[in-house]
Order: sequence, then structure tokens, then C-alpha cells
Amino acid sequence: MQKYEAPIKDIEYLINSVFKINNYSNLDRFKKINPEITTMILEEASKFTQNVLLPLNQSGDSEGCKFEEGDVKTPDGFKEAYNTFIKGGWSSLTFDEEFGGQGLPTIIGVIVSEMIVSTNMAFGMYPGLTQGAYKAIEKIGNSEQKKLYLPKFSDGKWTGTMNLTEAHCGTDLGLIKTKAEPCPDGSYLITGSKIFISAGEHDLSENIVHLVLARLPDAPTGIKGISLFIVPKFLSNDNGELTDKNNVKCLSIENKMGIKASSTCEMKYESATGYLLGEKNKGMKAMFIMMNEARLGVGIQGLGMSEVAYQSAAEYTKDRLQGRSLNSPVNPELPADPIIVHPDVRRMLLSVKSFNESARALSIWIALNIDIAEHHPDSDTKKNASEFLALMTPIAKAFLTDTSFENVNLALQCYGGHGYIRDHGMEQFVRDTRITQLYEGTSGIQALDLVGRKLPQDMGRLLRQFFHPVDKFIKENISDKDISDIIMPLAKSFARLQQASAWVAENGMSNPNEAAGASSDYLKLFGIVTLGYMWAMMAKTSLSKLNEKDSDKQFHQDKINLSKFYMNKILPETSSLLSKITAGSKTLMSIESSNF
Ligand SMILES: Cc1cc2nc3c(=O)[nH]c(=O)nc-3n(C[C@H](O)[C@H](O)[C@H](O)COP(=O)(O)OP(=O)(O)OC[C@H]3O[C@@H](n4cnc5c(N)ncnc54)[C@H](O)[C@@H]3O)c2cc1C
Repeated sequence: MQKYEAPIKDIEYLINSVFKINNYSNLDRFKKINPEITTMILEEASKFTQNVLLPLNQSGDSEGCKFEEGDVKTPDGFKEAYNTFIKGGWSSLTFDEEFGGQGLPTIIGVIVSEMIVSTNMAFGMYPGLTQGAYKAIEKIGNSEQKKLYLPKFSDGKWTGTMNLTEAHCGTDLGLIKTKAEPCPDGSYLITGSKIFISAGEHDLSENIVHLVLARLPDAPTGIKGISLFIVPKFLSNDNGELTDKNNVKCLSIENKMGIKASSTCEMKYESATGYLLGEKNKGMKAMFIMMNEARLGVGIQGLGMSEVAYQSAAEYTKDRLQGRSLNSPVNPELPADPIIVHPDVRRMLLSVKSFNESARALSIWIALNIDIAEHHPDSDTKKNASEFLALMTPIAKAFLTDTSFENVNLALQCYGGHGYIRDHGMEQFVRDTRITQLYEGTSGIQALDLVGRKLPQDMGRLLRQFFHPVDKFIKENISDKDISDIIMPLAKSFARLQQASAWVAENGMSNPNEAAGASSDYLKLFGIVTLGYMWAMMAKTSLSKLNEKDSDKQFHQDKINLSKFYMNKILPETSSLLSKITAGSKTLMSIESSNF
């Protein structure tokens, strides 16, 4: 059975005790929240996601979206759920008040997104894409575009999409063929075909605003000749009242492995009216605004799936009776003990749990930096936060999703053969999670971004945004006896990460294949150490809380125990990753392509 309860206590612990968000009240957005308001939002979000979205998760998967003569029907109950979603104000949490939003900090958006994904990832795709479109128009749109589109996204009446992929190009967007012809009135005629467009057509909103990458007639070839256009399904007047249907069609929807209730559309633009968004030929820069936002969102998708899979598996392992505890029976009166007594089952559960709680900490750390980068009054602080985000984006995208896919498989494994049977819902988690490693740039492409762009940028300046706080934390705590069994393994793994970074930088300079060949292992090593740092911070927080009079001692002791599990059972993988990285790329490149 798919089981989910929003991890409110864990979230409150992270935002109030670990990251102490009351320290950020110098930022306007944080003035709107305090622990009571945050708890109220979390409780309402948990009610909506558990009561409205979760019951539609398996039915939505079985039913899928239906394509009927150019229209797409979402599964039963989705339209009503979407209406409840917008009535509850969930579409506009972090959007600017100027444009009808609630102006809340990004952490609130990230936390609510995790709950939405855990309960119904496919449903979350529709508002998720809208969020990216909102950001792109907010950052680079002109004032008329902001005035027209942003309030419509805020109230959820219109949704957004991102149209990059064409049949012959996904990763290499420099190959895009879709054309944009300028018209005398300043608009453009867009012609071309796009594939795999999430939420490209559906019945949830009255209009769909496509952000489309296309090429102007005089554009330079390759990636430098791509521009971004707003192409609405329905045209409108300046007040947002719909006028004519635009020449945009959905030709078909994909029959795919997972997230079946999310429409994945083949789109055809036949001289459709479009409006330039941002500067000519700077479309990729503009699209990256959407993609960076979306990449973090996909990392959160991984976490959300890993959480619901863990909760479902934990519940099952407490009920399923098989075998006896190796020490002494736990349930002598019953024919067997629950499988949670077995060390190997615990290994699986704890691997997932220790990931979830530290990945959630990372997502909150990143969300805090998004608000600092956008709203902090001090320009240096802003710049540091932006650099931190640039470094962390590929790690959050690839490491969180790759590990989550392993995790949902481990959670399924806890069910034995029953995990493979549809009714239990575990195989849906595996199918749904798999896409997170692919879209918004595959994990391999994130790893290349990390070693090829982020690592060398300004002689390693970005790296310092992570290395400095970790180094400082280790130095401050290494001689504290109470926490040395947590800090020592972190220090060792951190040293491996530093060694690997130097190796990649040095060898990548003389031969780019060395950096590229090491990239996926390097990103994984970076991700494991990052979560190790999250665990060390949590352990330190919980150790101090243990001594407080009214604290929940069991909660904090469990945090410390889980931190030790991570240090003992997960962090050592950094050693083999370092060996793999420094072994170089020779063996990867030694077999001729024709001999594969
Ligand atoms: C369900 C679903 C929803 C999607 N939603 C959207 C959407 O809303 N909008 C949109 O525009 N697109 C969307 N996509 C498309 C998605 O972003 C692309 O599929 C993805 O970026 C990969 O592109 P590709 O499929 O063409 O693979 P390719 O680019 O052909 O890559 C194939 C393999 O080669 C590797 N590779 C490619 N180039 C390199 C290189 N230079 N170095 C190393 N390895 C390389 C890749 O990592 C991958 O493993 C969606 C796809 C799916 C399946």
C-alpha cells in the first residue's frame, strides 16, 4: 500500500533548529513567516496532499491521460484536485505579491513541492512547469508580459510549459530547427515541431502558455542563435481575456513508463503567433533561468519519491512476518517475527531514511540560498549565494535523483515479490522516479556541467562556496569528543573530495576526456560528502538539544544514531569513488567504437 504522512516534525526541526530561519528576518520574505505560521501552512499542505492527491495517485497511473482529437483528458479527479489546489492558494505561494502571489520564502515552496511529489508526482508536473515559466517571464520579460502572464500563473488559470526538445535534439539544443519569422507588428510566426513536452496539452487550465526555443532567420548557427518565445495556446487581449485559438496543436501524447497522469506531448507550431521573451539569440540564457529552477525541482522530485517509498516500505516491514530475529524471537506468540528485525532489511530502510533526511536538509539549504541570492541587501552575500547555487544545481539534480532511484528500488525490495505486484504501488514509484534522471538534462550532462563549467569557473571560486563552510565546520568541531565519531569520517571523506577535485582540475586541463570520464563518479562523491555535512550539522544540533529540558530526546537520539549510520555505512563509498576517479579514462576510451 502507498503510505504517506507529511514529515512535518522533521521539516520543523530543519527550518527552526538546524537552519534557524528566524535569523533571516532581514529578508522581506521571511518577515511573513514565523514558526506558528509555517506549521499552519505545513499542516494545511499535508491535509491537501494526503487527502486529495494521494487517493488519485494509483488511479491516475492506471487510467493515464487520454488523447482525443487534439485534446488531452487528464485522469478522473485531476480537474477537481487542480481546482482545489488553486482555490487553496497553492499555485502562488512563492510568487511575488505584485503579481498576485503570496511572496513567501522559497523554503515554503520547496517543502510543499516535496509533499506534492510524494503524494502524486504526475499531478505535480502541471504546476511545476508553470513555476519555471513564471520565473523566466519574471526575470526577463518586459513589463507588459509580466502584467499579462504572471497574475494568470499565480491564480492558476493559465499554466506554463517549456518547449526545448525536438526529435533530433535533446541534449544538443544547438541543433534546434524550429523557426521564428518576424512580423511587422513586432510579433513572430513560430513554425516547427517539439516532442516530449510535459503539460503541453491538458484540461486543467483555461490557457497554456508555451515557452518555445526557436531560431530567427538571420541567427548564427548553433547554440548562439537560439531565441525564446512566448506562444500561448489562446491569444488574449491586454486584460487577459481570451480571443483566438493560436496555431498550436498537440498531435499525440506519449505512451510511457511512468508519470502516466502527466501528459507528454508532441506539439506542432504552424505559423503560430509568438512574442520574443528577453533578447534575440539569448534564448539559451533565458531558458537556463527556467532550467535551473526546474533542475532543483527535479532533485526535489527524487526526494519526494524516495520519502513516500520509504514510508510505505517501513510500514510493510513492521507488519510482514517472516523468519525469526537471529538473537531471540521478538514475537514468540506469533509464527514469525516482522521482517524489520533482520539486519539486511534494516540496511535497506536506513540507507533510504538517512538519504531522505539529509537530502531534505540540503534542499532547505539550497532554498535559503535562492532567497538570499534574490533578495539579500548586501551584494557580496547575494553573489556568494548565487555561486553556491550554480555549484549545487547539478549535484541536487543528478545526485538526488540517481540515489532516489536506487532508494525506490530498495524500498520495493523490502516487499519481496509483493513489491513487483501492481496493487502495492511500489512498482509505480520505481517507474515514476526513473524519469527524474533523464529530463532537464540527464545525470551524465549534470556531471559534465559540474566538472566542465562549475569546477573551473574563476579558478575554482564556486567550489569555495561549499569547501569553506565545510572546512570551517570540521575545524570548529574536530576536537569535540562528543561528536568526534561523526566529524572524523566526514573529515576523511572531505579530504577525498578535495583530492578528487584537484585531480579532475589538473588532469582535465591536459585531456578533457579525463574530466569527462571522471565526472559521474566525481558528482556522486560530491553528493555523498554534501549529505555527510548535512548529517554532521544535524548531529551537532541534536546533541545540543538532548541537553535541553523539554526536548524530544528520542527524536534527537534517533537523529544522532542515523548520522552515525550514514558516517559508517554510506560515507566510506567515497574511498572507492576516489580510486575510480584517479584511475583515469584510459580504459574507457581504449576500445574502438566499432567494436562495441
Ligand atoms: C517524460 C518526459 C518529459 C519531458 N518533458 C520535457 C519538457 O517538458 N520539455 C522539453 O523540452 N523536453 C522534455 N523532455 C525531454 C528531455 O529533457 C530529454 O529527453 C533529455 O534532455 C535527453 O535528451 P534526449 O532524449 O534527446 O537524449 P540524447 O540527447 O540523445 O542523449 C542520449 C544519451 O547520451 C548522453 N549524451 C548526450 N550528449 C552527451 C555528451 N555531450 N556527453 C556525454 N553524454 C552525452 C545522454 O546523457 C544520454 O544518456 C521530456 C522527456 C520525457 C521522457
